[in-house]
Amino acid sequence: MKHKLLSAALLALCSTTATFAQADYQADSIFIRKIFNTALSEGHSYEYLRDLTQKVGARLSGSAGAAKAVEYTRDVMVKENFDNVFLQNVMVPHWVRGAKEKAYILSGKQKIVIPIAALGGSVATPKGGTKAKVIEVQNFQELRALGADKVKGKIVFFNRPMDPTRLNTFEAYGGAVEQRGYGPSEAAKLGAIGAIVRSMTTRLDDFPHTGSLRYASGAGMIPAAAISTNGAELLSKLIKENVDTEIYFEQFSETLPDVPSHNVIGELKGSENPAKYIVVGGHLDSWDFAQGAHDDGSGCVQSIEAVRLLKVLGYKPKNTLRAVMFMNEENGLKGGIAYADSAKNKNEKHIAAIESDRGGFIPLGFGVVGTPAQKAKIVSWTKLFTPYGLYELGPGGGGADIGPLAPQGTVLMELIPDSQRYFDYHHAANDTFDKVSKRELELGGASMAAMLYLIDKYGVE
Ligand SMILES: [Zn+2]
Repeated sequence: MKHKLLSAALLALCSTTATFAQADYQADSIFIRKIFNTALSEGHSYEYLRDLTQKVGARLSGSAGAAKAVEYTRDVMVKENFDNVFLQNVMVPHWVRGAKEKAYILSGKQKIVIPIAALGGSVATPKGGTKAKVIEVQNFQELRALGADKVKGKIVFFNRPMDPTRLNTFEAYGGAVEQRGYGPSEAAKLGAIGAIVRSMTTRLDDFPHTGSLRYASGAGMIPAAAISTNGAELLSKLIKENVDTEIYFEQFSETLPDVPSHNVIGELKGSENPAKYIVVGGHLDSWDFAQGAHDDGSGCVQSIEAVRLLKVLGYKPKNTLRAVMFMNEENGLKGGIAYADSAKNKNEKHIAAIESDRGGFIPLGFGVVGTPAQKAKIVSWTKLFTPYGLYELGPGGGGADIGPLAPQGTVLMELIPDSQRYFDYHHAANDTFDKVSKRELELGGASMAAMLYLIDKYGVE
């Protein structure tokens, strides 16, 4: 009923002041409605995500799962009859966790087992594990103020929580994640022999959330692990009760030589400008103990779906449209770098790239990075998205994998879904298929298809 009224109102508007722009607006809104209808009634992305998370499963760069994911997504795009499906070679880091970590707190007579996970890229503990007194800090300033005297030979515990008052949880993450990335080296500079980092989540639970660390050159490489937030709360309480509280942990991770892997690319050929490209993408790799349903299986299947929706609706693109599954976003970004290098070498002009890597949650808008004129043009399409709950085009950035295209002058965009639950699952074993809503996932894929269509039709200049 509502829609009928809306079309009637539109018709009235067009008949009184018929302009070309309004006719286009009506045609566009009708086509975008078809995109959403098709996604919501005959979408394929949810079943693809089921297979990618449950049949393929975890897919850290260099693993057998990653190789399987490459084959799986290639097969999907071949079966969907994309015009061209191919693999792009890329060498990727090969870090392995090895056997499951062991950890416990020793406080007085208590010995309490705690859930930890080695941080991506971390070295192993010495054989038999590492045991030492724990020093808790909230930030690097506090750590440096303690000085080498108090830190040497200890395990540093970084316990600054993500700020729960930030409505955008990515900002809260940004405000805490330096502890994971750089904390181990900061601790090592003062002589620490291990680092334990509070998991990057606002939730209190028993899942350690891993993620990459970056060892600084010149600082010793000490073993580092994430502790669950419940574990962090307990450890902090025990340290307050007993300053001699110790941690024991053992982990077996190691970095093996780089291995060959692939980005997976599927395309619909452009009819007017086949050598100009518009990309939608996500990253194919996940952490090793996670199905990577939200991070970033969702972005991968939404990207395939965005191109597929335009294809099944009979849309003939002017420019070549590509769905790209980038390899190795989590611990190296080698796929994104290789993709941009190849585009440069082959002189492939990329008009725009849209990444989905913020989870398969209900879409609220798109981030846009471009010139003010490019941004203004994209923002002018906002009213075509509002019927589907996307009210804001503009604020926010592009994704990590498409970042290396920036020097080409490519407009970089990112699907922005609701962020409240993302870090409940991020880089943890609970990032599983059952946490993704079919409809929310499909709305995201449809939104990307609609954006792809508008950029292809109108360009960004
Ligand atoms: Zn991701």
